Amino acid sequence: MSDTAKANACYDGGCTCRQVRYRLASKPLIVHCCHCSWCQRETGSAFALNAMIEADRVQLLQGEMEVIETPSQSGKGQRISRCPTCKIAVWSNYSGAGDAVRFVRVGTLDEPSRLPPDIHIFTTSKQPWVVLPAGTPAEAEYYRASERWSPESLERRATLQAKYPRRT
Ligand SMILES: [Zn+2]
Ligand SMILES: [Zn+2]
Repeated sequence: MSDTAKANACYDGGCTCRQVRYRLASKPLIVHCCHCSWCQRETGSAFALNAMIEADRVQLLQGEMEVIETPSQSGKGQRISRCPTCKIAVWSNYSGAGDAVRFVRVGTLDEPSRLPPDIHIFTTSKQPWVVLPAGTPAEAEYYRASERWSPESLERRATLQAKYPRRT
């Protein structure tokens, strides 16, 4: 497969018991590797890998999600979608972007190696034995999308913002 064809292809994934299956219709907006202590606790590991993508590009192929309200660092909470049977977390919505954007857990993809991190965030709380690659941007905490996202992703973001104006 050519690089272009690969970039345009879908990404399939699912839970451990295979009741839930989903497909990402395109590559994500960005892939975060988050080293914050909340992600460490939620994954039971050293970091979380989240592919941020428009909700309407995530197709549920099979099964239904169980949505669990979960505390988050912002205090506004996040909604974690889990398989109702094996309870594996497949994606989350944060209150900031609402239901328009999903944070898909890259480890639930059939081929997680296709979506390596575009950026490392919250590296101040990174485990000291995790050594970051030189070529990937890293931020002490969070960042501005306008400074880090690709032009294509910023265009997609503008479309999203037009579609879902923030309610205040
Ligand atoms: Zn399952
Ligand atoms: Zn985090």
